[in-house]
Amino acid sequence: MNISLNKRVISLFTLKSAIFIFVIVIGISISMLSPFSVANLKAEVFKATAYCSCEKCCNKNPSDKRYGITATGKVAKWGTVAVDRRIIKLGSKLKIAGFPKTTFRAEDVGSAIKGNHIDIWFPSHEEALEFGVKKMVVYNY
Ligand SMILES: [Zn+2]
Repeated sequence: MNISLNKRVISLFTLKSAIFIFVIVIGISISMLSPFSVANLKAEVFKATAYCSCEKCCNKNPSDKRYGITATGKVAKWGTVAVDRRIIKLGSKLKIAGFPKTTFRAEDVGSAIKGNHIDIWFPSHEEALEFGVKKMVVYNY
């Protein structure tokens, strides 16, 4: 191997590293812009169910002081999600594939919400029933 070939090998190597770094930088930028990017390992598939503030869902009747109040003390509203706090930290923000306009927040818990399972709050029992059970990609940040 002569010197010029060595140089060419080195410059090829440098070019490859430059491309490699460029790809990583672009990849990070994309994953930051798009929470559902494949490159983002924080996106996971969860079982998604739905609930409302009613007695059937929360075992609290409207006369209860804590009716419609989440585990974190907030008024349940669209965007409220119940989680298993061992999986998702209470208070953290979530993006759920299928609801691109909404930033959800883990504000509630439930005895039936265990592991990779989220319970999405809806304003009425009918809407919660209509939602049913789905597999959804959840991004926790
Ligand atoms: Zn309900």
